[in-house]
Amino acid sequence: MAGCCAAEPDPLRGVNSMAKDKVVIIGAGSVGATYAFALLQEGHAREIALLDMDGERALGEVMDLQHGLAYTRPVAIRVGTYADCRDADLVVVTAGAKQKPGETRLDLTNRNAAIVRQIVHEIQRSGFGGVLLMVSNPVDVLTQVAWKLSGLPRARVIGSGTVLDSSRLRTLLSAHCRADARNIHAVIIGEHGDSEVAAWSTASLGGMPIRDYCDQCRNCDPDSRYPRLLEEVKRAAYEVIARKGATYYGIALSLVQITDAVLRDEHRILPVSSVHENYHGIQEVALSLPAVVGRQGVERVLDLPLDEEELRAVQDSARVIKSQVEKLHL
Ligand code: NAD
Repeated sequence: MAGCCAAEPDPLRGVNSMAKDKVVIIGAGSVGATYAFALLQEGHAREIALLDMDGERALGEVMDLQHGLAYTRPVAIRVGTYADCRDADLVVVTAGAKQKPGETRLDLTNRNAAIVRQIVHEIQRSGFGGVLLMVSNPVDVLTQVAWKLSGLPRARVIGSGTVLDSSRLRTLLSAHCRADARNIHAVIIGEHGDSEVAAWSTASLGGMPIRDYCDQCRNCDPDSRYPRLLEEVKRAAYEVIARKGATYYGIALSLVQITDAVLRDEHRILPVSSVHENYHGIQEVALSLPAVVGRQGVERVLDLPLDEEELRAVQDSARVIKSQVEKLHL
């Protein structure tokens, strides 16, 4: 019978040409490939295009991922080109250098800004009309670079920001308080980096302010414990990188949350990074604050009732990011 072999998966063409909810991943390294794997298992993308300057690497990852498609929902996954960005709902940038042991995220600024400049140019040339999600580090600086160079509305250029850091904090609190992380609402804001801030004054557990919970629990001294937990969150990536050279599982799962918020128009509140016009004197700086995320990107940013110290710390964090962006002379 003619044509039966045409249904075989072709790594370059994909297996389901009817797919919608399209995600393009630029950078098929540890983060990009792990994110694609997490999307296959959990996400709602129906078409995934993976591209990398190392075409063989992208093809190898795609082939490996395709080999599990008998056990997932139908998803078309294939090697892409920049032309794929044209009708993508979400383009996710995970390309670029990663931290070496001991390096900070900010140390990557010059190398990765040059890469992002070239990538954004290609994305815009495609006629892209979706949401751009930056992941490469330093993610806040690069979110600002991508916004500035792309000319896209600020709502449609977001960074993964402190979505991962907030999960780290909630997970630590979960172990410490012995309560499910899903019942703990606590958010890290500001830079995804060493100047990040824990918004303790708005944290809650099971619907009660965490301070009130601590008053009842009395198992620890929150005044000394909270700063230690924040320090652990800040150190988390360094600790992983020192042992295995990179972080990718936690960020991949965080990216699935952001992806679904966009594809399914969930209006989900996530601490993504975006460029703020004016947030308590923070002007034209990309950093994370809890934001309502949907199909159009950031729909609105919440004005958390931070205490004075927290607000000052976020303003300091903004200064760190701003000075780094200024050095790039965009
Ligand atoms: P990796 O070295 O495994 O992969 C990077 C990939 O980018 C490589 O495959 C490389 O070929 C590709 N690349 C480089 N320049 C490119 C270009 N111009 N066009 C297309 N592809 C290009 O690194 P990784 O571990 O996947 O990390 C990627 C980035 O993600 C790093 O900047 C890292 O710091 C960042 N990261 C961010 C978070 C976060 O929370 N935002 C978490 C983990 C890692």
